[in-house]
Amino acid sequence: MRETDFFNGVQVPVIGQGTWHLGEDAAKRKTEVSALRAGIDAGLTVIDTAEMYGDGASEELVGEAIRGHRDDVVLVSKVYPHNASRSGVVAACERSLRRLGTDRLDVFLLHWSGSFPLSETVDGFDHLRAAGKIRSWGLSNFDRDDLQRAPDGCATNQVLYNLGSRGIEFDLLPWQQRAGMPLMAYSPLGQGPTLLEHPLLAEIGDKHGVTGAQIALAWVIRQPGVIAIPKASSLEHVQQNVGAGAVVLDAEDCLSLDNAFPAPRSKQPLDIL
Ligand code: NDP
Repeated sequence: MRETDFFNGVQVPVIGQGTWHLGEDAAKRKTEVSALRAGIDAGLTVIDTAEMYGDGASEELVGEAIRGHRDDVVLVSKVYPHNASRSGVVAACERSLRRLGTDRLDVFLLHWSGSFPLSETVDGFDHLRAAGKIRSWGLSNFDRDDLQRAPDGCATNQVLYNLGSRGIEFDLLPWQQRAGMPLMAYSPLGQGPTLLEHPLLAEIGDKHGVTGAQIALAWVIRQPGVIAIPKASSLEHVQQNVGAGAVVLDAEDCLSLDNAFPAPRSKQPLDIL
């Protein structure tokens, strides 16, 4: 699978794994842990989680899946805006590390902008970096103007990006690409059925011998500097998502997708889930 620069010169595969809603149902735990592990073994090594997901249940499940494999993964977690004071960020990180069963995060993100000044949050991130508890920090759900004003050192911005939500192509994505700041695309499958049942995806999928979901994912990563983090709770979905990394869309595919899912022609408000 193609790789891209992430933080501090670290290269990562352009498809990783999301984990929102994983770990919330005890009956599904074994399957979810196996799916996540299989994804890691197959190269989907960027794992995205957050203290918010299942009130820590996702981080605990990730901790179980990476036990004994910490060095094989690039761990991303997020702090709630209401915990993003200087001391709050540090305490939230300690709790996340405990749940994840590790001594460091690779990237720690502010989940979305809140009431604490960003400079204060970044002070907390810097403190954690100096203590070796995080390797880098970033933001999530920031639009271009706010991102431009952010203190130096932001490793990534994680935002909604899929065929049904292309607003960031107007200015945010080009700005991040020019700045050399990788963009983490969340909900790259549009959270499932509504987007994935579009007949054009199946049609293009048939042409390439893959599924519509794989086309949707291949489309997200066609852009340089984009890392997609689909969430999958079954082995079958994980394997398909790995396979999407090898799908190359041609000009005709991209044109039909542009007609069905038009690119923005003007500035759009940032879509947020
Ligand atoms: P996704 O777009 O990743 O869609 C997940 C859905 O797609 C699930 O129903 C999953 O089913 C299904 N799916 C996965 N793979 C396939 C496949 N190959 N074929 C068909 N269906 C498939 O939605 P998410 O909202 O989960 O986004 C991904 C991740 O992004 C989150 O898990 C989270 O880590 C992050 N995120 C970050 C946000 C932020 O504010 N920073 C906001 C939202 C998400 P199944 O589970 O059955 O496999």
